[in-house]
Amino acid sequence: MQYIQAIIFIAVTLVTFYFFFKKGKEIYNNIQLGRSADIQNKGGLKSMILLALGQKKMFQNMIPAVLHLCIYVAFVITQIELIEIFLDGFTGSHRMFFHAVQGSMAGEGMYNFVISFIEVLSVLALIATVIFLVRRNLLRVPRFVMPEMNGWPKMDGNIILYWEIFLVFCIFLMNGADAALYPGKYGFLISDNIIAPMLSGFSEGTLHFMERFGWWGHILGVLAFLNYIPYSKHLHIMLAFPNAYYLEETPAGKVENMPNITNEIKAMFDPNFTPAPVSEEAANEKFGAKDATDLTWKNLLDAYSCTECGRCTDACPANQTGKLLSPRKIMMDTRDRIEEIGEGIKKEGKEFKDEKALLGDYISEEEVKACTSCNACVQECPVSINPLNIILQLRRYMILEEAKSPEEWNVMFNNIENNMAPWQFSPMDRDKWKEELEEAE
Ligand code: SF4
Ligand code: SF4
Repeated sequence: MQYIQAIIFIAVTLVTFYFFFKKGKEIYNNIQLGRSADIQNKGGLKSMILLALGQKKMFQNMIPAVLHLCIYVAFVITQIELIEIFLDGFTGSHRMFFHAVQGSMAGEGMYNFVISFIEVLSVLALIATVIFLVRRNLLRVPRFVMPEMNGWPKMDGNIILYWEIFLVFCIFLMNGADAALYPGKYGFLISDNIIAPMLSGFSEGTLHFMERFGWWGHILGVLAFLNYIPYSKHLHIMLAFPNAYYLEETPAGKVENMPNITNEIKAMFDPNFTPAPVSEEAANEKFGAKDATDLTWKNLLDAYSCTECGRCTDACPANQTGKLLSPRKIMMDTRDRIEEIGEGIKKEGKEFKDEKALLGDYISEEEVKACTSCNACVQECPVSINPLNIILQLRRYMILEEAKSPEEWNVMFNNIENNMAPWQFSPMDRDKWKEELEEAE
């Protein structure tokens, strides 16, 4: 019987990992559809440890940070028990780690301590999960009820929380039934002292069934979760790491210059300026981005790493004053669009084209125009995602390629072009004003 179980377990695990890596490869390919990114000063390991592993920015808001920490630490530490479950599954054994140390007081003590520690963390994670469910569904926190959270995003957030409850239930059922079957064999803090006494009235057969149900339920839940992650906002638990590694560490709000435009401006200010010769490709360069494939791969990695938490939208002055713009939606739309393009390429090959574009079909011009470039969204994001960079690229396309600037801005653009300054004074008038100032000194 144990061999049949091991064979089923190995087959299920292989199928799960096959589909997980298949989807992972698709996401990688989609990210590669973006332009190259010139990252001069990447955050590297330091930013990966502080932002992704240490969740440094989460601690700007203590209560949610502590609740997240409970779930996060439980998730990380539970992997020890998960390794044992996997090894048991592959070999058909039962509590392999315990049997390896059985008979040694120190070894058994350490085993019981680790499992008890996992149990305590699991209870804390359970409490945090229930609080998150209440906050998300009953308290109607504004950032969770915005229009972009209707439908799948809301369901996605809830599914994952219910899933966590199921996994915790299974682990306690497994440990509790095991402790009830073998009184005194283990010393698990919660299972031995609280759950086993509650299960003691059940027959041996029922306890065996419960233990196996908990074991299979937990491992199948984990494997299903692994396959679900690439389709969910929870992809951030993996992508937050490379995303933090490649984080561009520039001063807050720094805007990338466009070399062609910079040359024109320099030529306006200095008639002797000779721009360096540019390649034909650079001369024909498209300004800004119209579709997701015009963005850089880092923008696309940002989109896949977004947790949809809405902290950026909460801090956005445009959103606060009732404008249509939500930086979270910018990230969600970018991800949806690159997924759509990726699906199209999968079916029709690299030549795939549809009539849609990120700007216009997903993100409206009104949203793009509403941004004040204040950088608050980047500042607030717990994983330093940069919605502003995407907005600026879309806006550059709108204005420089399609000449769709708001009427009020055109006056300023005309002034820059004719007067070399945003104001309505000719250079001669400005020189005169300067001379007058100098004479007055
Ligand atoms: S930079 Fe734009 S999108 Fe970001 S918070 Fe400011 S106004 Fe909102
Ligand atoms: S961009 Fe950052 S702050 Fe905004 S929803 Fe995504 S993870 Fe949250």
